[in-house]
Amino acid sequence: MRTPSAAEPLVELLDIRKHYGKNGFGSGREEKAVRAVDGVTLQIRPGETLGLVGESGCGKSTVGQIAAQLLEPTDGSIHYRHTPIGREARQTLRRQIQYVFQDPYTSLNPRHTIGQILEQPLAINRLGGSSKERKQLVLEMLEKIGLEPRYADSYAHQLSGGQRQRVGIARALMLNPSFIVLDEPVSALDVSVQAQILNLLKELQEELSLTYLFISHDLKVVHYMSDRVAVMYLGRIVELADVEQLYEQPLHPYTQALVSAIPQGFRKEKQQRIVLQGELPSSSERLTGCPFRTRCAHAFERCAAEAPKLSAFAEDHYVSCHLYS
Ligand code: ADP
Ligand code: MG
Repeated sequence: MRTPSAAEPLVELLDIRKHYGKNGFGSGREEKAVRAVDGVTLQIRPGETLGLVGESGCGKSTVGQIAAQLLEPTDGSIHYRHTPIGREARQTLRRQIQYVFQDPYTSLNPRHTIGQILEQPLAINRLGGSSKERKQLVLEMLEKIGLEPRYADSYAHQLSGGQRQRVGIARALMLNPSFIVLDEPVSALDVSVQAQILNLLKELQEELSLTYLFISHDLKVVHYMSDRVAVMYLGRIVELADVEQLYEQPLHPYTQALVSAIPQGFRKEKQQRIVLQGELPSSSERLTGCPFRTRCAHAFERCAAEAPKLSAFAEDHYVSCHLYS
């Protein structure tokens, strides 16, 4: 296992907020502001995989897209190798930071061959030498991600889901990035294919010294991939810990519920499944106090009055809950 230095994050998100309002990208009809991300601070260490889990709609993709420079935050800042990202730095950073989507099918041009799709990032950035040299790089990349050279002449619709995701990963790798946001990269795939893609991602990380932000709603997959895990609820991080620590000793009642719901659970002692009451509140509702209190079996007076802050419970284990403060 890698032991990345805590002092030197590769990517740092500082108090990131993303609100969609009447003047934002919403439908334009009467609507309340959606607080998709509501004050997220995260450090991603070089060489690690930081897992990001939570229910659908809690803001994972928004965090990922902001970390990958695909989306502007409403508020907060992003640092890359300790340098704040400004408009000037953005263009060069685009190469260092890449994003892999859940289903690359929608983002792979159906009229271009796989070879053309993989060559494009090089051509646009005037990298990789002559056209002939670029084609050679494409063939080398196909080999690296486990596709035979003949696939260079195929189209996306001729590939299986697993092969398409290999191409999605290959495209992200063409510019030699150091940081990749993987947004539910195997959620659209059959379980047997999932394992192949996850193992490919691990091998590539080792070989190319990559740093991953790995987004998933599947706690088993996150356990398999991650060094550390951040748990999101309604736009905020509620717990952050070393992966084994998080699964063996979850502190936040929300994390406890998620972990207890994993089939053939991870906790040493026999654990009752905790069934969450109620629905995920809409992120446009302005809740006072703790955002989880409406579904929390342990909620007490203070939880309605005051929002808890993410604070250290033990070394490398942070939780945002009044039970521990
Ligand atoms: P996740 O990836 O965890 O499923 P998202 O980051 O996609 O969550 O979305 C978080 C919240 O932000 C959701 O309530 C979603 O509906 C809302 N949202 C995302 N994108 C937009 C947008 N362009 N306009 C308005 N609301 C959005
Ligand atoms: Mg998402």
